[in-house]
Amino acid sequence: MKNNSNKGKMTAIFCGFLLLICSQVLAGQKIHTVYFEGEENELHVYRINGTKPGKTLLIVGGIQGDEPGGFLAADFYADFLLEKGNLIVVPRANFPSILKMERKINQDMNRKFLDDDIPNYETKVVTVLKKLICESDCFLNLHEGSGIYSTEFEDEMKNQERFGQSIIADNTVLEKTGSEENINLEQMAQIVIAKINRHIKNKEHYFHFNNHRTNDPDSIHKEQLKSATYYAYQSCKIPAFGIESAKSLPLEQKVRQHIYAINGFMEVFDIIPQTPRVDLKEPEMQYMIISVNDSIPVVVGKMQHLKINKGDTVKVLDILANYERGLSVDVIGLGNQFNDMKKKLVINESTRIEAKKDFYKCGSVFLDIDSKASKAVSLLAVSESNDTQEIRYKLIINGKTKIIDNYSHLSIRRGDKLIIEDILTGKVDPSKYIVNFKGFIGNLHNNNGEDRGYVIDTSEGSLLTRYSLKKKGRQYYVLTTLNGKEVGKIFVDIQSQANEEI
Ligand SMILES: [Zn+2]
Repeated sequence: MKNNSNKGKMTAIFCGFLLLICSQVLAGQKIHTVYFEGEENELHVYRINGTKPGKTLLIVGGIQGDEPGGFLAADFYADFLLEKGNLIVVPRANFPSILKMERKINQDMNRKFLDDDIPNYETKVVTVLKKLICESDCFLNLHEGSGIYSTEFEDEMKNQERFGQSIIADNTVLEKTGSEENINLEQMAQIVIAKINRHIKNKEHYFHFNNHRTNDPDSIHKEQLKSATYYAYQSCKIPAFGIESAKSLPLEQKVRQHIYAINGFMEVFDIIPQTPRVDLKEPEMQYMIISVNDSIPVVVGKMQHLKINKGDTVKVLDILANYERGLSVDVIGLGNQFNDMKKKLVINESTRIEAKKDFYKCGSVFLDIDSKASKAVSLLAVSESNDTQEIRYKLIINGKTKIIDNYSHLSIRRGDKLIIEDILTGKVDPSKYIVNFKGFIGNLHNNNGEDRGYVIDTSEGSLLTRYSLKKKGRQYYVLTTLNGKEVGKIFVDIQSQANEEI
């Protein structure tokens, strides 16, 4: 069993940027639990807790694999976020049967909730479902039924014994013990049925309440004593309903009917969805799709290197990230200052292509000029980053590019204009570092210490002398940190102009 608290780690990192918005989001959360991981009956359970406390509705789909209307509808709710109340969503209770598009594999899973310990995977899943049912305030089991339920016998496919287009309960009233009030199951179902029927054009397809009277001596549905809803009704004492779309209807209509039913029960239990859903996960680029010299595009993963030849043209065709909108790329040192997507650029020096989601940097790939490869055998090679943590600095001094090694000295003259364009690194995305010219403030509004990209004027009085070595204003340093730890430094020695000393 594995727990993935999706909002925990990811959002926490991203919240550094958006503290106000995130404090709201973190209050609600989504926990994805995987049971029987790696087995064919792997069971995925999504618990979605609203920002405000409330009732818990359990939605189970796919307990029988040949009823897609149910599990496809349930699937949408796994991605929900809630304002109030809770959902427990099991989109695919019986995954092996879904894969085979069959009602059952060893046993009908919905006939195993009464004293059945035959050792098979169905038993294991049912044990988990039983626990989830008793944790909830209401349970919906999503099905497709053959034919259409009717209180009158109309024909072979439309009569009292059919299931389709009905909300089934095991009784009209759920009798509670102790001081708790009884729950009128029929009334609850009728409220939801009215909501569903508003969306159904053909009156012949209207939903109806279908009372199985499961425990009555003359019930025609005695087999339901072994069902999940009866377990909920009898053992957990919670309202439970089978939602049945008629098998013969188009798939989309079946799914929609289930959705109207789920939404209806959510309203009844005052479970309120977030609309729109606010999920500020940290932006992350996965792949860049790049064409070199108009060739067939290659897929380059985050932090991978693409070997090219000097003078090749490179065009980024697309990027794949955990967001679809707001994406752009910047070919460092080339192209324009906004977006280099789909622009054909001639590459003469090794550089990096940075992906952004809005203004958030979300991953880079590297273009390495391969000086050894001959033009004739120019094969596109994508490689993983090398392991060295080597850092070099790409600087622009009075408009001229200069690359220098870590822990080396840069000698410039007073008044020179210096830009730390970027650092060139191996394994770690350069945007994860902070490169800080001590004694210079790049961004006055947000002095996070990051000084890449700013024009650093070294004229007398432009820098803060107290940060220079020995406070003499002659030697400054640039400190590079990763997660707050020093990983590099260069020294900037400012030579006096000839007349300064006199
Ligand atoms: Zn079914």
